[in-house]
Amino acid sequence: MAAEHPAEARIAELGISDPKEIDVDAIAYDGGVEVRYDSLSGCEATLVGVRDRAIATIHQESRRTRRRFSVGHELGHWHHHRGQSFRCRVDDLSVNLAAKDKTKERQADTYAAHLLLPGQLFKPLIKQIKAPSLNDLSTIAVDFDCSLLCTALRLIDVNTVPAILTSYDRNGLRWFLRTPDIPSRWYLKDQLDEDSFAHELLTYGKAQAGLRKSSADTWFTNADGDEYDLREHSVEGFGGEILTLLLPENSMLDARYDPDAFPKRYNEHGAYIPKRPGKR
Ligand SMILES: [Zn+2]
Repeated sequence: MAAEHPAEARIAELGISDPKEIDVDAIAYDGGVEVRYDSLSGCEATLVGVRDRAIATIHQESRRTRRRFSVGHELGHWHHHRGQSFRCRVDDLSVNLAAKDKTKERQADTYAAHLLLPGQLFKPLIKQIKAPSLNDLSTIAVDFDCSLLCTALRLIDVNTVPAILTSYDRNGLRWFLRTPDIPSRWYLKDQLDEDSFAHELLTYGKAQAGLRKSSADTWFTNADGDEYDLREHSVEGFGGEILTLLLPENSMLDARYDPDAFPKRYNEHGAYIPKRPGKR
């Protein structure tokens, strides 16, 4: 069995067996962190710790799921970075995923996501859905009192169905995550393709009711993309981003190495480097 994330171990230790029991303030208190709600300016949350006690202050005007996530995020700092104080923007998860230099913030986000959606409670639910759409994930998000994005990220983490989660905006691809069984030969386009449903949503605000079938060449640069199909479902995220869940058909998982999958270039020493290091 895969090692539990420390946040999941915490949920198990506390004997929590239902999403309704994930009371983040109580979990914080039990771990020596007092949570206060106040009006903060310029940040979403702060953490000030001295020895084994800390105070987390959360911006009270934020929406409920964000406040819960912020508590989880500060508990993540408390777990991983004890002894330091933090003043967090707790940016939308998506902003931290797109940033390169936010390791501590991402660690805290990951802790929060595992605390709010512990695998032991989330996995059995998601396993029941053969091809989850973002609507299905929204329903689960409501049950766990957290955001759709947080739930979609956990879908990729738990790896129960082959899937890719992407974030595009008008400037192009911001970030993506994929389950380990998706071959890296599938190289996402830099910009949303005009034939994608995601592009319709970005450009004309035309929403999809659920998963729709597309050709893989709508999404990937690979020359053989038109031989494969996938299903896609997009919703609008925050700040103009389009969040898309892609469910590739099984044959895409077996597609072989594609030497021309992504644009190559060479550095001044003649060494080969991928075009966008660290992104794929
Ligand atoms: Zn932080």
